[in-house]
Amino acid sequence: MKKNPQTALIHAPRKAPQYISTVQPPLYRASTIIFNNTDALFNRHWTDDYDYSYGTHGTPTTFTLGDNIAQLEGGLYHLLTPSGLSAINLVNSCFLSQGEEVWVPDNIYGPNMEHLRNLETRYGIQVQVYNPLCLESFNPSDKAKLIWLEAAGSVTLEFPDLNGLVKKAQAHNILTALDNTWGAGLAFNAFDFGDEHLSVDLSVHALTKYPSGGGDILMGSVVTRDKELHHQLFRAHAIQGIAVSGDDVAQVQRSLASMQLRYAHQSSSALNILTWLKQQAEFVQVLHPADPHSAGHQYWKEICKEGHSAGLVSVIFDSKYELQDIRSFCDNLKLFKLGFSWGGPVSLVMLYNLKDMRVLEHSHLKEGFLVRFCIGLEHPEDLIEDIQHALQNMKKVKNE
Ligand SMILES: *Cc1c(COP(=O)(O)O)cnc(C)c1O
Repeated sequence: MKKNPQTALIHAPRKAPQYISTVQPPLYRASTIIFNNTDALFNRHWTDDYDYSYGTHGTPTTFTLGDNIAQLEGGLYHLLTPSGLSAINLVNSCFLSQGEEVWVPDNIYGPNMEHLRNLETRYGIQVQVYNPLCLESFNPSDKAKLIWLEAAGSVTLEFPDLNGLVKKAQAHNILTALDNTWGAGLAFNAFDFGDEHLSVDLSVHALTKYPSGGGDILMGSVVTRDKELHHQLFRAHAIQGIAVSGDDVAQVQRSLASMQLRYAHQSSSALNILTWLKQQAEFVQVLHPADPHSAGHQYWKEICKEGHSAGLVSVIFDSKYELQDIRSFCDNLKLFKLGFSWGGPVSLVMLYNLKDMRVLEHSHLKEGFLVRFCIGLEHPEDLIEDIQHALQNMKKVKNE
């Protein structure tokens, strides 16, 4: 039957042949997934993995990336979310109920804390803060449900006693959720770490950072080895309508091939720059888990592979420098751009006032403004020169 041109355009006859193969997997974009017949419709099992019934429940494109992320992190089951923060929120909203207690490290990723404070006010969830370097400060009551772990903390870069914290949580039957963005599945295996092969229950990853690697895509994941936990998350994910775009997934999938190389390069550049930063008189403290003077260094050493320490390094300026000096330093950097996030090709800088960011006392942190450098893919020599110039300019302005 000859069709009208408009219909013919929509029902194009050519289909990709099955035998063709390409370096990158084909990209599926879908809200609708077409059922072959009513049998297929009535027999769909959307709560099963790899059932194709509607775009929000997944496509071969999203499952391919999810499988890769799960494998990278040492897990079995996965869910993708539109940002790292939405992956965090999925865990919080799925597992926390009224009256229950959630434990968070004092150096927690800030927006996670904001989300939990909101749940506290509106739904009566109790937020308790522990010092990631002091196991005794984690004192769960019988209402405790979940503990968040971050290794390392994303601004002050303390590496926690993961072994101790996970063992204590398990002894109290508390779910462990690790924000695994820093380690990215490369620095250590969140599902099998330490001498005793300990494992977290849930690993959350801001794929926005190393897996994307471009500074241009937002995405998150939640990985577990526990089928029951996964099914709870899966249902919450489905009923909340959390879905990712096939195009974004394809971009992250494409970047995964180079992720390990980028991570290694940025780790090694950061170590290089760390050595130089430690010699500069303007800084009273340099924070990086691979540095023996950094808080939690021994725990980093216990768990992480040699040389795997991501691309973040923070400095604390001597307290004689005021906010305007630090601002002038940041404004004078040319290669380092002022912005949030990390893991992309461009080096970034961000300034923080720790006074507003901590609940507990932290004797290991000196007074002064903190600046965090996120090392990109530029040559470390050029980055050092950039910092050097900005320091010289800052001092010139201060002395004028
Ligand atoms: C960036 C980041 C997130 C959130 O990821 P987004 O995709 O930006 O929402 C969560 N945790 C850590 C440690 C991060 O660095």
